[in-house]
Amino acid sequence: MNRRQFITAAASAATLAAAGTKYDLIIKGGRVIDPSRKLDAVRDVAIANGRIAAIGANLHGDADTIDAAGKLVVPGLIDIHTHAARAKDAAPLCLADGVTGLIDAGSQGADRISETIAIAKSAPQLCRVLINIGRAGILAEGDTMDLARADVAAAREAIEHNRDMIVGVKARLSRDVAGPNDFEVLKRAQEVASSFNLPVMIHMGQTVSPLSKLFPLLKSGDIVTHMFAPPPNSIIDDDGHILPEVLAARRRGVIFDLGNGRSGHLRWDMAERILKAGFLPDTFSTDWTPEGRPTQVVNFPNVISKFLMLGMTLDQVIAGATSHPSRAFPVFHDRGTLKVGAPADIAILELREGTFDFVDNFAGKRSGRQRLFPSATILAGKRVAA
Ligand SMILES: [Zn+2]
Repeated sequence: MNRRQFITAAASAATLAAAGTKYDLIIKGGRVIDPSRKLDAVRDVAIANGRIAAIGANLHGDADTIDAAGKLVVPGLIDIHTHAARAKDAAPLCLADGVTGLIDAGSQGADRISETIAIAKSAPQLCRVLINIGRAGILAEGDTMDLARADVAAAREAIEHNRDMIVGVKARLSRDVAGPNDFEVLKRAQEVASSFNLPVMIHMGQTVSPLSKLFPLLKSGDIVTHMFAPPPNSIIDDDGHILPEVLAARRRGVIFDLGNGRSGHLRWDMAERILKAGFLPDTFSTDWTPEGRPTQVVNFPNVISKFLMLGMTLDQVIAGATSHPSRAFPVFHDRGTLKVGAPADIAILELREGTFDFVDNFAGKRSGRQRLFPSATILAGKRVAA
């Protein structure tokens, strides 16, 4: 629009506001952080018809209001590695923590994928699943220790019948999951995924094969979860250099994800060394399970607070939980943002100052000066009951 059109549009917007614009809800006076638009300022956020209607310094209208003074107002959080589709009560718990988009990352394989899909469909927020290439899903004795379980035909058939709900393939590659089969398991996962143009998420860490053998199999859009996993076969060498195959994977568009979890994935010294090498995570995720709630994971805001402690900026950690994960799966294409017209999925968080203890997966304790707490969630324009 030219200058005169702009002035006319601005004037009519002002007139509307003066006349009492009809909004459904206005979130007043919060610090709005939306990395998708490089916005970090105290603003009001107005919602109408389940979508973001306006963001401005002082919005008025005939609407319910939420006082967000002193709080952060950010796009609804998107957690791309959870196990929230194992039980019905999980997704609502995550929603109360500000998580308005979820991926169940391979809890089940072809044999019982219908169970996780049924739970994902019943979730109040957007929830999709990755199919485990191991047809029996996660097994204590190792999903694909028996290579016959990495069944390409069975996985393909499951996806064919559930194209709307299965958004990728999960391959868990650790030595206690796939053993010496890791390379062949990943190859089969790619065989399945590529026939549907879907991403593969690999669970790395303590693999039998070196990453120099595994990572060349990763294509653009694939996701490496547990990126801070300690040796054997971490992404950084003893001299503090990120492996060349890891750098090459990032260059061709492979996404690197936290996957906090509870055992074997996150160790403080590894995270420090990898961040120090300048290799920041693209996305954060919790690897959420009910068992992770009392300690370690707690909730998504707690997980990203660990990376504030490790020196990342508030803007970076919010981006890693909103705009960045929204790009990992097409189902989230219009999420992870507060731009006008987007679905009004919003997390209101509190950034508290003090002394807060965080733990890694190896009982290592660290203290931070800040921690994010969930305060309220807005889903499709409606406040979620606390
Ligand atoms: Zn997991």
